[in-house]
Amino acid sequence: MAELLKITDLKAKVEDKEILKGVNLTVNAGEVHVVMGPNGAGKSTLGSAIISDPEYEKTEGTVLFKGVDITHESTDKIAKMGMFMSFQNPVEVPGISLANFIKTAMELKTGERIRLWDFKKQLAATMEVLQMDPSYADRDLNVGFSGGEKKKAEILQLLMLKPDLAILDETDSGLDVDAVHIVSKGIREYKKQVGGALMIITHSTRILESLKVDRTHVLVDGRIVEVGDEKLVGEINEAGFERFMNCADCKNEDCVMKSRL
Ligand code: ADP
Ligand code: MG
Repeated sequence: MAELLKITDLKAKVEDKEILKGVNLTVNAGEVHVVMGPNGAGKSTLGSAIISDPEYEKTEGTVLFKGVDITHESTDKIAKMGMFMSFQNPVEVPGISLANFIKTAMELKTGERIRLWDFKKQLAATMEVLQMDPSYADRDLNVGFSGGEKKKAEILQLLMLKPDLAILDETDSGLDVDAVHIVSKGIREYKKQVGGALMIITHSTRILESLKVDRTHVLVDGRIVEVGDEKLVGEINEAGFERFMNCADCKNEDCVMKSRL
C-alpha cells in the first residue's frame, strides 16, 4: 500500500523547548492510526508540526506527504495537497461565516470556483448528517459556538474538503454522548465517501466507534514508545499510561521503538 505520510526522526521545538524528540511514523493510504499519550506528551505538537504551524520549529527530520518533502512547506500548500487538521481548540474567526470559510478552502484546494447553488446544496446536506442547525452556515466561524458545535464544524470541513489525510486532534474531548455519536458518524461517512486516511489523536475509544484501527501509537515525552494494533487502545483505556511512563527514559533503542506487531 502506498505510503501517504512518512515521518522520519522528527524533532520540533516550541519557544526553544524541544517537544518532539525523534518521531517516526508512517501512514499508508486509507489507514486509520490512533495516537495516544498523557497530557503534555506532544500529541498536538506532532499534528501542528506536520501541517507546518509556524509556532512549531522543526529542527531535524523529515515529513513526506505523497512522496513530497513537506517538512518546510507552508500550511496552505500542505492543505492544498490534501491534508486536513482538526484542532483541539478550534479558533474563532470573526467576520468570516462558516459557509464562506469552507467554500474558500474548497476553492483553494481545487483551484476552481464552485457554483454557489451546488455548494449550498452540498453544505446543507452535510450539515444535516451532522445534525447541525442550518443557521450555523451564516454565523461567523466558531464565534459563540458551543464546544460540540465547534467540533461538528471541524467534521463538516472534513466532509466538504475530502482530504486524503485527516489529523483529528481530540475531536471527542468535551463532547456529550450524543455529540460523540454524531461526530463518529461523520468520521465513518468520511471513510465511506472518501476512503481517506486518519490520524486520530484521542484519549478514549469513544470516537473510534465502529472504526477499524490499523495502528495505535503511544507518544510519551516526545517519542513514540510503543506501536500496536487496536487492542492497545482498549488496554490504555483500562490501564492508563502508567506502564509506558518510563519508556521515554529508556536508553535501549530497541526498547524505545519496540513494536508489538
Ligand atoms: P499534548 O497534546 O500531548 O497534551 P502538547 O503538544 O499540547 O501536548 O504540548 C507538549 C508540550 O509543549 C507541553 O509542555 C506544552 O506546554 C508545550 N507547548 C505546546 N504548544 C505550545 C505553545 N504554543 N507554546 C508554548 N508551549 C507549548
Ligand atoms: Mg493536545
